[in-house]
Amino acid sequence: MEYEPVIGLEIHVQLSTKSKMYCSCGADYQSAEPNTRVCPVCLALPGVLPVVNRAAVEAAMKIGLALNCEIAEVTKFDRKNYPYPDLMKGYQISQFDVPIAVGGWLELAPENGSENPTRIGITRVHMEEDVARLTHVAGDGHGRGDHALMDVNRAGVPLMEVVSEPDIRSPEQAEAYILTLQSIIQYLGVGTASMEEGSFRCDANVSVRPKGTETLLERTEIKNMNRVRAVERALAYEVRRQVKQHEAGERVVQETRGWDDERGLTVPQRSKEEAHDYRYFPEPDLPPLQIGREWVEEVRAALPELPALRWARFQDEYGLSTYDASLITSTRATADYFEQTVEAAPAGDMRSAFAKETANWLNGEMARLLHASEAAGDISDVKIGPAQLAQLVEMFRTRELNNAAAKQVFEEMFRTGRDPGAIVSEKGLAKVSGEDELGPVIDAVIAGNEAAVSDY
Ligand code: ADP
Ligand code: MG
Ligand code: ZN
Repeated sequence: MEYEPVIGLEIHVQLSTKSKMYCSCGADYQSAEPNTRVCPVCLALPGVLPVVNRAAVEAAMKIGLALNCEIAEVTKFDRKNYPYPDLMKGYQISQFDVPIAVGGWLELAPENGSENPTRIGITRVHMEEDVARLTHVAGDGHGRGDHALMDVNRAGVPLMEVVSEPDIRSPEQAEAYILTLQSIIQYLGVGTASMEEGSFRCDANVSVRPKGTETLLERTEIKNMNRVRAVERALAYEVRRQVKQHEAGERVVQETRGWDDERGLTVPQRSKEEAHDYRYFPEPDLPPLQIGREWVEEVRAALPELPALRWARFQDEYGLSTYDASLITSTRATADYFEQTVEAAPAGDMRSAFAKETANWLNGEMARLLHASEAAGDISDVKIGPAQLAQLVEMFRTRELNNAAAKQVFEEMFRTGRDPGAIVSEKGLAKVSGEDELGPVIDAVIAGNEAAVSDY
């Protein structure tokens, strides 16, 4: 029997707001000394009252709208109770039955062999808060002196949760979903969405079922993946494991499993908790929040052009290939840089030919050097300005520079930020052309190679 994977992702995104979710402490927990971004509210002292962060709610609305969701007219907050040392209050203020946004979708670029984008349903987008950070310190190796250090800076930092429908059908689709969501968050400017930095965390729910059937079978939830690649590997492993169990006639146990990146496998962590385990109840210290329709429309009107639209426009307007357009629009900074370079093209040059050549340089040499440089990877730190790149592209297109020389000039520009014209004249790289200049060179070569000339 053939089985198909059924995958749904729960993603936590830290928002880059100035202050925390329910108090006015700075949310810059990483750059600050431990335990310097704390107040009675996020320390959970008795008698304090939380206040909702407007900017965080607005950021969740932006994501909700970008994911084609309905924005609730009235939303509310709930207590999710569980005991853990990094949870200051003993409960988290989250949202249970009335999240900020529900019922949307996210489109993945068409897969090989398909014309249409794949649509993944979005169940909900809600706001909650992060927990403190524990660092475990080993003692003498015999259990004496084992302890943990606690940093409360992160407690209360806004966390947005985005839950997908179980519409994802392969580990590769899960990866595409993550990359697309990260790109949307970065375009909207509401968070850094980096798995490595911990500002984007993914829990993956997965089950398998006989292909062609529609029922949802027992699932496991996988945690502890801190790279996109790890999510893909963990899912592939878990799908194989579950298929084997089904084939052996065994039940898949509904449980939470952890990904062990080194060993390349998932291991059972605990039996899966249910909503009632958390004893959710309405947060008595926060009144329900009304989200006026004017506010929603204001936020909608201010949304930037999102990656999928920009991707389509770059193909239409500049004639970029699907592939080039996806690379160029993968970050907002690269897409902006590309458009600024094309804007700086000399009047009279063919816009689409110039644009394609610009894309070649960005996806080729620029990507290569960014990848190789120690600061690794961000176009916003590059020393070459868009106008300078436009000059180089123009010199290349008019054949003033051949391929090898243009690459050499580009490298020098990348290193120093100097203008291409200055580098070309200093290094004498300009191409020699025309009879007057070439004639003497040819004469000299012929004179110096008598044997070859007589053979000829
Ligand atoms: P919980 O909060 O207990 O984890 P939810 O009902 O909110 O449970 O579901 C969490 C995620 O699990 C969602 O992304 C959903 O799409 C996914 N999911 C639910 N059932 C299945 C299943 N049978 N197989 C795979 N994923 C599933
Ligand atoms: Mg879950
Ligand atoms: Zn605080």
